[in-house]
Amino acid sequence: MAHIIDGKAISARIREEVKQAVADRSAAGHRAPYLAVVLVGDDPASASYVRGKAKASAEVGIESDTLTYDVSISEEELLDVVHRLNSDDSVDGILVQLPLPDHIDDRKVIDAISPAKDVDCFHPASVGNLVIGLDGFKPATPAGIVELLQRSGVQTSGAHCVIIGRSNIVGKPLANLMLNKGVDATVTVCHSRTKDLPAIARQADILVAAIGRANFVTADMVKPGAVVIDVGINRVEDATRERGYRLVGDVDFEAVAPIASLITPVPGGVGPMTIAVLLQNTLLAASTS
Ligand code: NDP
Repeated sequence: MAHIIDGKAISARIREEVKQAVADRSAAGHRAPYLAVVLVGDDPASASYVRGKAKASAEVGIESDTLTYDVSISEEELLDVVHRLNSDDSVDGILVQLPLPDHIDDRKVIDAISPAKDVDCFHPASVGNLVIGLDGFKPATPAGIVELLQRSGVQTSGAHCVIIGRSNIVGKPLANLMLNKGVDATVTVCHSRTKDLPAIARQADILVAAIGRANFVTADMVKPGAVVIDVGINRVEDATRERGYRLVGDVDFEAVAPIASLITPVPGGVGPMTIAVLLQNTLLAASTS
């Protein structure tokens, strides 16, 4: 039976490290790092993510404000908000919660954020730095996965890492991180057009599922002893739960756990890491400003 990678415990250690570093900065006479979070509209999921980020920031001594705007804000007005935050020296990190309303082009807004304050690591300059292996902001979910692997003692050097999913927020940036010097994996990225995906998945020493389909990865797709990282968050109906559903990943956990050497649960695996990396990035933004 696989060991479970405890994302909650590992993320708590990272938060503690950030808290210590913030305290050290303060003892050396620096002000607290400051994160500006921009929230447009009243989508409950976005509001809940933003509350989680604000709470986690406060717990480690990072100051933050959530700037909330009505869904009717124009693209131009929102770009003005970003420009103002860019030129405000007291702002270290800027995070615009996505998705934005349909009348606003997400890409235009992300591109307007100063790369020096791009704590989400979505700006093309940040992505370029990542691809060529320069230090800088890290993409939250992919960097969280690398932290999980390294802090669980997984040998990544020379390992074959198969990633299922090629999105700009998970699959592609993760492929770059795993490929970079110091991590040194051999990487294969699969997607919906990949031929004989199960055969490729079976070659993985480290198998990452970032698809968005419940129980997509079945036992026959996993090499015995592989490390399995489940990024997926999917709702499945569950009449036994008060809310009528439960969250599951992309991996058939019950069937795969007995084969894998290490596996992340959902929830409590990759999920908690995302905010931990955001805090690391905000600390970095303050340290380099
Ligand atoms: P996207 O929908 O952007 O990408 C999904 C990827 O899966 C695409 O590359 C797609 O291929 C591929 N895919 C879909 N169906 C198949 C299939 N049948 N066979 C092979 N590949 C397939 O999703 P995200 O990357 O944004 O998210 C993936 C999952 O991770 C979601 O469940 C999301 O909720 C979760 N997530 C969790 C986070 C966390 O913090 N734990 C953070 C971010 C995401 P193609 O490109 O060809 O369409």
